[in-house]
Amino acid sequence: MSLLFTIENEFSVPVEQEAARYPVGRIFCVGRNYAAHAAEMGVDVDREAPFYFIKPSSAIVLSGATVPYPPGTENYHYEMELVVAIGASAFRARVTDAEKAVYGYAAGLDMTRRDLQLAARAKQRPWDLGKAFEQSAIIAPIKKAKDYASNLAPQRITLAVNGETKQDATLGDLIHSVPELIADLSKYYHLVPGDLIYTGTPAGVGPVVPGDKIHGIVEGLQPVDLTVGEPE
Ligand code: MN
Repeated sequence: MSLLFTIENEFSVPVEQEAARYPVGRIFCVGRNYAAHAAEMGVDVDREAPFYFIKPSSAIVLSGATVPYPPGTENYHYEMELVVAIGASAFRARVTDAEKAVYGYAAGLDMTRRDLQLAARAKQRPWDLGKAFEQSAIIAPIKKAKDYASNLAPQRITLAVNGETKQDATLGDLIHSVPELIADLSKYYHLVPGDLIYTGTPAGVGPVVPGDKIHGIVEGLQPVDLTVGEPE
């Protein structure tokens, strides 16, 4: 088969203790999965069911990069998140079986054009301009699940900008846990290896400007770093 042209279509993430990289298929993101963050966004938490949005795999950027301040926004925000990497297919998974689908975990940033997201929200339109833009899904190397904690709750999830702490919570603050997210998402999608799930951000989101250095930690995983560059 010949192609008229080629597109850059291979996005992958390094894995600790593994020579091969993890190829990224889809990027699912969870909204409002920490109560204190929902409150700061001025909305109620729906504890019955999570909700999702999707970023293209081409939005992936590896930790350590400098990303230009994105176009079309005057309110570019960080969101520190635990990322789940799916390693086995799951469809209508039970909560009790869901962790079998997890390949590993990583620290990530769901970068957001907050002004565009809120404008879309106000008009009851989709969030794509605010969320699904280029270079908006930052990720650190993946740690295999077998090498990580079996109880995801006490680990701190924190983010600092230029050394000043902005977000500080624990994974136990997740409203919908990782198994619950996989069980729910797999009601609607056939999850497959390559799917990433950004599990939502704690309270303390805020803006960054060119020159800012973001440093995010999920305890026990490699940190995620991003420098905000000048706009193009
Ligand atoms: Mn988010």
